[in-house]
Amino acid sequence: MVTFGAGSDPRAPNTVMTMTYVIASPCVDVVDKSCQQECPADCIYEGVRALYINAEECVDCGACKLACKMEAIFYEDDLPESERVHLADNAAFFAEILPGRSAPLGAPGGAMDLGPVGVDTPYVAGLPPMATAGV
Ligand code: SF4
Ligand code: SF4
Repeated sequence: MVTFGAGSDPRAPNTVMTMTYVIASPCVDVVDKSCQQECPADCIYEGVRALYINAEECVDCGACKLACKMEAIFYEDDLPESERVHLADNAAFFAEILPGRSAPLGAPGGAMDLGPVGVDTPYVAGLPPMATAGV
């Protein structure tokens, strides 16, 4: 995790900006969890149709990206324009109250201990089924 001081983001002067890795659409409906097994920070959490990286817990090592055969994981700055929605969506998985839950997940401190969350963000839940033939 690389954290910039409060006020460094001109779009949101009173917030702390965090750079991180992001799981994008090629993960949807694959979820083989190869990345999760390589993550030294145990910060890749399991929804239903996708996994999500917790930016607060990520240490920016890049091991997940190397493990992902779907090339679904991007460093934030390298996200293609078409995948940029997943930056906010990965964050929303932890910061917002997911359907059926009463509070945001926040930073649970370990994906393995928490286990499958059992729900996706509304954005991922609403995506059309992804073709996974050949995976
Ligand atoms: S960059 Fe490293 S710490 Fe962050 S999610 Fe990937 S494997 Fe985990
Ligand atoms: S390795 Fe890639 S496709 Fe597999 S669960 Fe992780 S992000 Fe998804």
